[in-house]
Amino acid sequence: MLVRKIGIDLGTCNSLVFIPQKGVVLQEPSVVAVTLAENKILAVGENAKEMIGRTPDTIKVYRPLKDGVIADYRVTQAMLKYFINKVAGFFSFLKPELMIGVPAGITSTERRAVIEAGMAAGAKQVFVAKEPILAAIGAGIPINSCSGHMIVDIGGGTSEVAVISLGGIVTCHSARVGGDKMNLAISDYIRKKYNLAVGEQTVEGIKIKIGTALAEKEEKKIEIRGRDLILGLPKNIKISSNEVAEAIIEPLAEIIQVIKIVLRDTPPELSADIMDKGIIISGGGALLRNIDEKISQATGVPCFVAEDPLLCVAKGTGVVLENLEVYKKSIMSKK
Ligand code: ADP
Ligand code: MG
Repeated sequence: MLVRKIGIDLGTCNSLVFIPQKGVVLQEPSVVAVTLAENKILAVGENAKEMIGRTPDTIKVYRPLKDGVIADYRVTQAMLKYFINKVAGFFSFLKPELMIGVPAGITSTERRAVIEAGMAAGAKQVFVAKEPILAAIGAGIPINSCSGHMIVDIGGGTSEVAVISLGGIVTCHSARVGGDKMNLAISDYIRKKYNLAVGEQTVEGIKIKIGTALAEKEEKKIEIRGRDLILGLPKNIKISSNEVAEAIIEPLAEIIQVIKIVLRDTPPELSADIMDKGIIISGGGALLRNIDEKISQATGVPCFVAEDPLLCVAKGTGVVLENLEVYKKSIMSKK
């Protein structure tokens, strides 16, 4: 496969690779496993994630992108290289052009780190664009029109809210709250209410299977297993969707607060556009049931979940790569 252009969504939770004409060709967790003594990278992506909770003291498994920016440069670079090699294969004698999505609030130093990591990973050229813009493009929003659009991207580590008009970001705000904080809130809730310790995977499963942003008349229930904190023995309990809704009130309120701040700072003409067209939600958090209704109730603005919310940013990188001329205003810098 001869690959010349590659779009990458380097998320705190999941990384996706998009190739024009092919679509999303890779979707793996942004996780690496490193040996503590030699600081050697053992595994990346799916292979590394399988090791979580199962490693000896000598191996550390972690996510190198904290809050969407590069917390660990060397490891991020290795991760990028792994993803590029995996899709470009052995015949990548033609260096590819990369388009990488970065958080809107990134500093110039952080941006340079992303570009350097891309170059070091073997790219001919690295373009970067802000994630809310890419998410909006991937969600099918005509970002170059002169009308205002609001995109809310709820990821694992962060949520970003932006108003876009004429191909650029007019107002935006982000907070370190997302799916991770919801998981923490759910496990705290279960620990306090049932004296039960539950693992990370179990909590993620609860959220995905029965999680809801609003309490509902017909509750869903599932049985889960954890460790009784008093007896220290395994124990099963049943938990309901309405309990999950109660558990995640706080993180949801934080996300809604960010949306309100951006609405407050948006010029009136654009607010009117947003009121007309509604807010679009992307990112994995958009998959939480009733999140659109919850945000809509709290803000009074209609809300819609984008199609394939997990893929929006990656799809956006592909659209931009295929139409660099059209989107050149939205691309921040290149090298
Ligand atoms: P990032 O861009 O930070 O990598 P993603 O957009 O990939 O994040 O979203 C990952 C987050 O979405 C995780 O916290 C995950 O738990 C959450 N998520 C995925 N599917 C669902 C679902 N069905 N319901 C609620 N949350 C979900
Ligand atoms: Mg993301």
